[in-house]
Amino acid sequence: MDLACPKCGRIYTEGEKCPNCGVALTRDWSGKVAVIDPEKSKIGKEMGINLKGIYALKV
Ligand SMILES: [Zn+2]
Repeated sequence: MDLACPKCGRIYTEGEKCPNCGVALTRDWSGKVAVIDPEKSKIGKEMGINLKGIYALKV
C-alpha cells in the first residue's frame, strides 16, 4: 500500500520518510490527486503544492 506524507501530502510507493519534509509517512490517508502543473492547477494552489506529483487529498 502507498504511504503519504502527513505534512505535504505527497504519496510514495516506497520509503518510510518524506525526503522533502523528513517526517514519517502514514497509511492513514484518502483520496488521490495527480498534480501535473502546480502553477496552473487550482487544487494544487489550494493545497499549497509546488512540486508535481501524486498527492493525498486527506492525510
Ligand atoms: Zn512531505
